[in-house]
Amino acid sequence: MLNEFASTIATRNQEFNPTLPQAAALTHAEASLPTSMPDEGMGMERIKQHLLDDLVPAFNGPSLSSNYYGFVTGGNTDASLYADWLVSFYDQNVGEHLPKQTVASSVEKAALRLLQQLLDINESDFSGVFNTGATAGNIQGLALGREFAVAEAGRRLTPPKITSIAQRGIVSACHDAGVRKIQVLTTMPHSSLRKAASVVGLGWNSVILLPLSAEEPWRFDLGALETKLKNTEGAVSIIAVSAGEVNTGRFATTREEMIKIRALANTYGAWVHVDGAFGLQARVLLSSTEHDTIVDGVSALDLADSLAGDTHKLLNVPYDCGFFLTRHLQLLQAVFQNGVNVVEDVSPIPSAHNLGIENSRRLRALPIYASLLTHGRIWHRELLEGQIAIARAVASFIKASPVYELLPKNTDIQNVYMVVLFRARSDALNARLVPLLNASKVIYVSGTQWDGRPATRIAVSTWRVDVKRDAGRVIAELENVARENESELEHGI
Ligand SMILES: *Cc1c(COP(=O)(O)O)cnc(C)c1O
Repeated sequence: MLNEFASTIATRNQEFNPTLPQAAALTHAEASLPTSMPDEGMGMERIKQHLLDDLVPAFNGPSLSSNYYGFVTGGNTDASLYADWLVSFYDQNVGEHLPKQTVASSVEKAALRLLQQLLDINESDFSGVFNTGATAGNIQGLALGREFAVAEAGRRLTPPKITSIAQRGIVSACHDAGVRKIQVLTTMPHSSLRKAASVVGLGWNSVILLPLSAEEPWRFDLGALETKLKNTEGAVSIIAVSAGEVNTGRFATTREEMIKIRALANTYGAWVHVDGAFGLQARVLLSSTEHDTIVDGVSALDLADSLAGDTHKLLNVPYDCGFFLTRHLQLLQAVFQNGVNVVEDVSPIPSAHNLGIENSRRLRALPIYASLLTHGRIWHRELLEGQIAIARAVASFIKASPVYELLPKNTDIQNVYMVVLFRARSDALNARLVPLLNASKVIYVSGTQWDGRPATRIAVSTWRVDVKRDAGRVIAELENVARENESELEHGI
């Protein structure tokens, strides 16, 4: 079986793979799906045939194509894919640290250490856990944020009152602490932040946007933030920093602003959570004229109380793998406590049962462990530099183009991370732009909205990067679509 795997790896790394399957393959696959549970199984040989011949040809190609720019998907490196297969083969269930029985929890710890060193997140300040992705990380961040902010409000009463949502529930704890509202203060958040607010009992409506301006809706207005934090109506706050924002890839705060946010949070007893699903990766970059704005946007993110990150995006390991880091290990264990007395957990590696949402957990750290060690720090830095270079080459082309318009307006190329947002100047072309660009299956882009109008987004997240080839492919597709729709453009519709 390992040999079979090795030959699959060799054939997947071709110079060109389509972004989407053939329409006929999709129709065939859909028609092949059974509608009833069979009494007799079909057996291993036939199921293999069914999977490989009927279903696999109908999968899309984010991990195989070098030009799949939809969402922020990442691909998977050969090393991570190989390790992922071992994860399933040996099916370790990583909970308690059981060093005499399996090395699994030590591997997980080692992977987290490597990751923290890659991203320059101090290991003595931050503890954490691998989870299913940044959605889980946002749920964890808001769960800790509400625990902290309400307890802090209680501590600040005279006389102080000790209370805990984890112990008493949100209604009683808020009542004890005199809290009437828990608000999440942010700028353009990822959709999962509202989901997280709902899951942890704060509600969608607790998420409040404090944009700097209509032109820069992804950036925090610190004045407005302080006004909200001061709110005396029994409100406590979680500050959620989007790093980066999904449409634009831009960062909510500069280094200096992050320092101010930390100080404000200390003054008002608020929690600071960073959604760094694909932004934290930028901490691999070195300071340079080219990358200074980006480095400035991420270099102080570790002033936060909690960080959510994804490894299945820019770190290019298979789904599902993200991580959550916090400065408050005891609070994490109090909120995610699973029955065992965590105070008595004297193990050098705390039980993962008390650190995250899951109890039974796959060894999802192994692919990241393998990929980090295979490639090393410099490769990861050069990879991100290449992704940024592709995004900037495309952004520069668009900026100079009479057919397309780079968004947000007045974007300086030096501020472009690995995301490019744009639209066609003609409304008629703009309305059809995403399907037109995706039709040839050479590149794949996502549709979104900006300023209330349709917009198109390219997110460069795969490890299959060749700056010249890939920027060339995108620009060629943009040119093709412009040329083929020339008549529409001439008539100004
Ligand atoms: C992708 C993403 C998420 C959600 O992460 P999942 O890994 O899909 O759960 C959250 N925030 C941001 C900024 C993202 O890009």
